[in-house]
Amino acid sequence: MKDSTPLKENTLNVTEIFHSLQGEGPWLGIPATFLRLGGCVEPYCPWCDTPYALEESTRMSPRDILDALEGYPGRQVVVTGGEPFLQWDHGLADLHASLVLRGYRIQYETSGKVPFPLMPDALIVCSPKCIDGTWRFDPANRGRADYYKFVAHDPGSLEAMEGFIGLYALPKERVYVMPLGTTREEQLRHMEPLFCFCRDHGYRMTPRLHVLTFDSRRGV
Ligand code: SF4
Repeated sequence: MKDSTPLKENTLNVTEIFHSLQGEGPWLGIPATFLRLGGCVEPYCPWCDTPYALEESTRMSPRDILDALEGYPGRQVVVTGGEPFLQWDHGLADLHASLVLRGYRIQYETSGKVPFPLMPDALIVCSPKCIDGTWRFDPANRGRADYYKFVAHDPGSLEAMEGFIGLYALPKERVYVMPLGTTREEQLRHMEPLFCFCRDHGYRMTPRLHVLTFDSRRGV
């Protein structure tokens, strides 16, 4: 469906657009088109699973992005990064408004390092990052994400996660624990201890379905 919404002539840093299944979190297994925006907030995570989003991007207008998204099937979009909300005032807000008008369901994947914009018509999945023992999470985002997704791999990372959950009083049903790993072998190695931890402590667990299926291949 086309509409006449004017899109300002901003441009966004786009790393990739592709259609796939959401491989993790509350939309696990759901077909969706991914818009990966380039750029993030320093310090970068030493274990960053998308380093190419920090280095590779092309400039695209909201209109061109919209046209590209409409070329794929379905009405689910996952906007990810990098840190997508860095570009909210540089064209992402306009793109968001147009997607909502067209009836898209939108999920944002964010680290929470920058304040979330005000918008009730999308799902925010926040994956807070603990770097050098410090959570890089803007306290202004307290209580504003729909779900939290923590990457964990050992007792130390699980202990840090529970510290964050306690600090921000997060309900367990809004928390997903995901094994660290950008390869199938690494994912599988961390799954059993995380499975047992989630089972014993009442958390939800999510795999990274695309990694288990395609190993470290990009854009799938
Ligand atoms: S927040 Fe995400 S994109 Fe940014 S450095 Fe960390 S893992 Fe990479």
